[in-house]
Amino acid sequence: MSQRVVIAGGAGYIGSHVCVELMSRGDTLLIIDDFSNAHPEAIDRIRELSNANVVVLKRDLADPMHKADILEAIKAFRPDGAIHLAGLKAVGESVAEPERYYNVNIGSALTMIEALKAANAKKFVFSSSATVYGDGNTNPVNESGGTAPTNPYGRTKFFIEEILKDIAISDADWQIVNLRYFNPVGAHPSGRIGEDPNGIPNNLFPFMAQVAVGKRDKLSVFGNDYPTRDGSGVRDYIHVCDLAKGHAAALDYLAEDKKGAIDINLGAGKGYSVLEAVAAFKRASNRDIPFEITPRRDGDIAEIYAAS
Ligand code: UDP
Repeated sequence: MSQRVVIAGGAGYIGSHVCVELMSRGDTLLIIDDFSNAHPEAIDRIRELSNANVVVLKRDLADPMHKADILEAIKAFRPDGAIHLAGLKAVGESVAEPERYYNVNIGSALTMIEALKAANAKKFVFSSSATVYGDGNTNPVNESGGTAPTNPYGRTKFFIEEILKDIAISDADWQIVNLRYFNPVGAHPSGRIGEDPNGIPNNLFPFMAQVAVGKRDKLSVFGNDYPTRDGSGVRDYIHVCDLAKGHAAALDYLAEDKKGAIDINLGAGKGYSVLEAVAAFKRASNRDIPFEITPRRDGDIAEIYAAS
């Protein structure tokens, strides 16, 4: 059954793939994005790929001056529910500027909750992260793993999950899915949308891509002395189109009138090391990926992957 869905952060890397997936199956979307880390062309590409129109509201969900507009637009759209992907996501920056991270990430989520409540559309799919688990669990990690995020970014994700759970307790009409992403990588097969961060990429795959095209000289592999099979960090890399399908599945699940809040891991269920990822990227792109081993990055853990 097609749905009317608000997509907060819909112009970003993951958001744009979610939009294409949902629009291709007939959902009607209202994208809200401030384009602080997204390109306006992403919207043209989403339209092109899904062969459908979409309404876009350029507003900052964390800006009190934009709140009235956002509430009005969401109410007028008459949504069934929302997917909330808007927020800041650089771990290192969150350590340096925690207040900004708490203001923007938690403020945006609270605005979305308020708007959905006012629109009487109490379905909320939240873009959370496996970073909520921290380092205390045995791999593979399932949803009952302990939570202990190790940086302000991870804590914003964890606190928003907790806020949503409190809201589900306070009002039994709420239907909430916290999607805990592992490491999204890749791009739509058309090549028309993908990951193109502003500035120096923090994440492994966009950094490798910039090395492959000659934009950067070499990759730094952060540590080869972890207790893993080759000493480099192990993560669970999930294709962004599979991740997008996970959002569609979450909406279908909520359409069955499931009440309360649930946490769901979105991973591939397999761990790969940084050195294995470099070798695979090299093979697939047919380009050299020069790298050097550098010290571990603060806050990184040795290994995490999802239970399949
Ligand atoms: N990594 C690396 N060099 C980089 C970026 C990342 O060696 O330039 C490693 C990082 O230490 C981790 C893995 O690649 O083991 C994935 O890091 P990423 O930042 O992509 O995601 P995270 O798992 O930290 O969310």
